[in-house]
Order: sequence, then C-alpha cells, then structure tokens
Amino acid sequence: MTAREHERALDLIMRRGTEEIGAPDSAWLNSHLSLCPECEAFAADFDGTGRLLQAVAVTASPSLVAATQMRVRARALQMQERQARTVLIAISFCIGAMSSTVTAWLWWEVGGWVARKLALPASIVEPGVFVAWMFTALVIAVVMLFSSRPVFDRSLIMNVLGHSRKEATNDRA
Ligand SMILES: [Zn+2]
Repeated sequence: MTAREHERALDLIMRRGTEEIGAPDSAWLNSHLSLCPECEAFAADFDGTGRLLQAVAVTASPSLVAATQMRVRARALQMQERQARTVLIAISFCIGAMSSTVTAWLWWEVGGWVARKLALPASIVEPGVFVAWMFTALVIAVVMLFSSRPVFDRSLIMNVLGHSRKEATNDRA
C-alpha cells in the first residue's frame, strides 16, 4: 500500500460523514479499511468524535440550558443564604456584646445600690457583674444555636434542584 492510498482513505473517511461519496469510492474505502488497521483505527476515532459532537449538540437543548441556568440560580440562592446567615450571626454578636455590657452596667449600678442599701460588702457585686455579663452572652448563644435554621427555605432550593434534575433526565430520554 502506498502513502497516496492512505491519504485517499483518510480523505474519504472525513468526507463520508459530511457528504455523499460515490459507490466506487465507498467500495474502495471499505476494502482499504479491511486491509489497513491504521486507517481503520482512524475511521473509528473519526466516527466516534462525530458521534460525540452530535451527542453534545443534541444534549444542549433549550430545556437543558434552562435547567443549568436554574441550577446556577439555586447555587446563587445558597450563597445568598450563607451570606445572610453570616450577617445575622454578626448582628447577633454585636447585640449580644452590647446587651451584655448594658446588663453588666445595670448590675454594677443596681447591684451597687442594693449592696449599699443592704449594707452588703461590695465584693459580692463584682462577681455578679461577671455573671450578668456572661448570662446575656449565654442566652444569645443558646438563641443563636436554636435559630441556626436556614434563612431561606431549604426545601425551595431542593425543589428547584430536583426540578432541573428531572428536566435533564427527560432530555436524555
Ligand atoms: Zn491506510
């Protein structure tokens, strides 16, 4: 077999997918492919690539594009949710710190006044300030622990994800 024959074979393999080739050319190509494993392998690769490209083109239907967009939107919602939660935790922390300070100050003022009135030693007021300061922070921590549910409804996101997945499955079918 000459290099020219292989060249002709490769040319016919590439043309075969896109345009009609004559019956004599087709017959010649088939006989060459049965004798030449190199060209046979190229033909298999070329046809495989064609099928792959076709599959990708068919898969990228408008509804799959829409499903992908929906998935991106759901992801954005998730990101928003996480950001919102971070902001909430930051606000809770600030409120907690502020209310703790106010409670401690109140305890210091009221406790000091009560201690003076009842003629109690000032040493019982000082640990009280610490307890009051810790107490508010503790309450805030417990509230934050129990309110750590998602800000946005997670089932909504799961619905969007489930819906788009169903669509993608329908596309494949
Ligand atoms: Zn060949």
